[in-house]
Amino acid sequence: MKRVLNFYPGPSALPIEVLEEAKEELLDWNNTGMSITEISHRSKEYEQIHNETQELFKELFFIPDNYKVLLLQGGASLQFAMVPLNLIHEGETASYVITGRFAKNAFKSAEKIASVYTGASTEEDGTFYRIPSKNEIKIEKHSAYCHITSNNTIYGTQWKEFPSFEGIPLVVDMSSDIFSRKIDFTPIGLIYAGAQKNLGPAGLTLIIIRNDLIERSKDDLPDILSYKTHASKNSLFNTPPCFAIYIMNKVLKWAKRKGGLDFIEKQNNEKAKLVYGMIDSYPEFFITKVEKKSRSNMNVVFRLPSEDLEKKMLEEAQKEGIIGLKGHRSVGGIRISMYNANGIKEIKTLINFLNYFYRKNA
Ligand code: PMP
Repeated sequence: MKRVLNFYPGPSALPIEVLEEAKEELLDWNNTGMSITEISHRSKEYEQIHNETQELFKELFFIPDNYKVLLLQGGASLQFAMVPLNLIHEGETASYVITGRFAKNAFKSAEKIASVYTGASTEEDGTFYRIPSKNEIKIEKHSAYCHITSNNTIYGTQWKEFPSFEGIPLVVDMSSDIFSRKIDFTPIGLIYAGAQKNLGPAGLTLIIIRNDLIERSKDDLPDILSYKTHASKNSLFNTPPCFAIYIMNKVLKWAKRKGGLDFIEKQNNEKAKLVYGMIDSYPEFFITKVEKKSRSNMNVVFRLPSEDLEKKMLEEAQKEGIIGLKGHRSVGGIRISMYNANGIKEIKTLINFLNYFYRKNA
């Protein structure tokens, strides 16, 4: 068996220890004589892991007590609809900060539900290179929330600090940098994220919601779309994505063994320093317009001098067992997605390859 070095943007690499453990337990989990995918979600064995996963996530991500964690399905894309459905009441609006494709998708979805506003947009020639400063953002009166996308997976930009607006909760799509760094919860009303980048398999969506926003959520929604339902049923209103939750449980325990979020954040900063250091050494070869202070620690996006060279890089990387470096189809070029499971060792191997490719082709 030969494992590849995986830089896919999501679903993406998981810690090998987690996969080994899951493999070991696949036929007989926890002395039940079955796998986790075969057991009832109403069993006490499953419920234990369901609750433990929420508790571990709260502990390791330093989530304050006045927030609940929900473990749902439907991806971040379903939250593009659930957030406005639940939180925008009659006569209210919401402000959206547009920093990339997914922010736009969130806005477009909300637009069908209520009349919402663009608080700011950093779109330039059909693409995005930066995060706006706080004073560029205009919040409409009667905004139920302000929505931002903390990390823009396609464009390689990231909010380093979240903005806060007096009395208006922040709703944050953290799909591509959840659990990659410590965050200040003070302005946060709600966070949502698919698990498939930093926390586990696709199919599981995490919601972190402040208690007063659960209370405030609308009552006239179908149960499946209601935060109130899911919160009151401990995310067991219907069948949860049991296997994905089980894997997330193992990812969290792996992170805890490594030193928790302190370790993860430090490692992510070091990885980013190494990769940006490399591309900044040869700016005429690794070409990026992303504003330096908006650079993402998760996705590094650049072009090479020609499309032929980009194609050649992807082919040679693949031969070396390095995969997932193709930029999103809307921007082309190269993208290095370096979520938590790829450590310094993996990044150094990648940098050696980039260095070698540069020397041969510059
Ligand atoms: N938001 C961001 C920032 C993303 O990166 C993605 C997917 N890559 C999404 C939303 C959409 O997520 P999903 O496919 O889970 O609906």
